[in-house]
Formats: sequence, C-alpha cells, structure tokens
Amino acid sequence: MKIVLFGPPGAGKGTQAKLIEEKFGIKQLSTGDIFRSHIKNQTELGKKVKSILDSGNLVPDSVVVELVVDTVKNPEFEKGYILDGFPRTVVQAEEFDAFLQSTGSKIDACIGLEVPKDELIKRILSRGEGRADDTPEKVAVRLDVYEKETAPVMGYYKKTGVFSSIDGVGTIDEIFGRITSKLA
Ligand code: AMP
Repeated sequence: MKIVLFGPPGAGKGTQAKLIEEKFGIKQLSTGDIFRSHIKNQTELGKKVKSILDSGNLVPDSVVVELVVDTVKNPEFEKGYILDGFPRTVVQAEEFDAFLQSTGSKIDACIGLEVPKDELIKRILSRGEGRADDTPEKVAVRLDVYEKETAPVMGYYKKTGVFSSIDGVGTIDEIFGRITSKLA
C-alpha cells in the first residue's frame, strides 16, 4: 500500500504517519526528516538545501523527486510506504506518478488533513522541536508556500481519484481513527 499523507505544515502528518507505520507495517518517508538528517550530518545534499529549509521555501522539484525515487527503491519500502511532506508541488506528483507507472505501481490513497490556519500556527509555535523554520516569520512563509504551491496537489489527486480529506482537529487517536476508516 502506498499512501500520501497530505496537509499544511503543522497538520500532524508526521505524528499520524508514525501511527500508520506501526499499524500497517509500511514505512514512513518524510522528505523533511531526510533533509534535516543530511543537514545535521553536513552531507553534500545537506549543504545544498540548508539555506532553503531555513528560509521556509521549497527544495527544487528535481532534487526532491530524485531523492524519493532513490529512497523507495530500498527493500524496506517494498511492502509500501506513507509519503509525509511529499509531493509538495503538482510537478512532483506528476513525476513521481510517472516513476510509479514505469514500475507498474500507483498511489493507493491520498488523505488530506484539514486544520484551520490559526490552529496550525498555534501548533507549530508550541511544538518546541527547536526547528530553525518554526519561528513566526518562517511559519508565515511556509503557510504561504503551502497555499500557492502545495494546495494544488489536492486537485491533482482528486483528478486521479484517490483523494479524500478528513478533519484534522481532535485528539491524536480520534484523527488516527478517521484515517484508518478511510483506509479500510
Ligand atoms: P517538513 O518537515 O515536511 O515541514 O519539511 C521541511 C522543509 O523541507 C520544507 O519547508 C522544505 O524546505 C523542505 N521540503 C520537505 N519536503 C519537500 C518537498 N516535497 N519539496 C520541496 N521541499 C521540501
């Protein structure tokens, strides 16, 4: 099973992806986590993307798509995966679908977490993960980028017929319940 967990920054994608990982035995793939790990380890990729992540803008499509395609080829992703934070542009969605198609596969479901903007800001600013992009200014940039570049991805998955949205406000368990009933 291949799932896209979709939603704005602060919607709870990472938390829910981990729960899906446990319950369904498929791997979480968070592009943000991968980039942060490269930055921490000061790899070539990390050096290339650090200032982009710090600014709240998006890493170029070609870099992200190549990273995801390379990652899912690893055996641990064979049973399926949950994409968390990818795709973030329609181009990424199209290019990844083209890759999947070439391997005879497809995205089974895209689940969008719906959370009002004021709640997103509140959640991000209170989560205290120490992320350089969790400041009020960077959060504003990230939400703006989400609306302009990422929100259209919903239309893409609606067109391909795999999109459904759920209410992303509630307890972690309530939201997870809504997700699992969609996946059932
Ligand atoms: P996240 O942890 O998902 O909030 O991602 C943190 C940052 O990593 C984003 O603000 C972007 O700079 C970068 N990033 C993560 N995923 C992508 C993606 N699919 N496309 C472009 N940039 C990304």
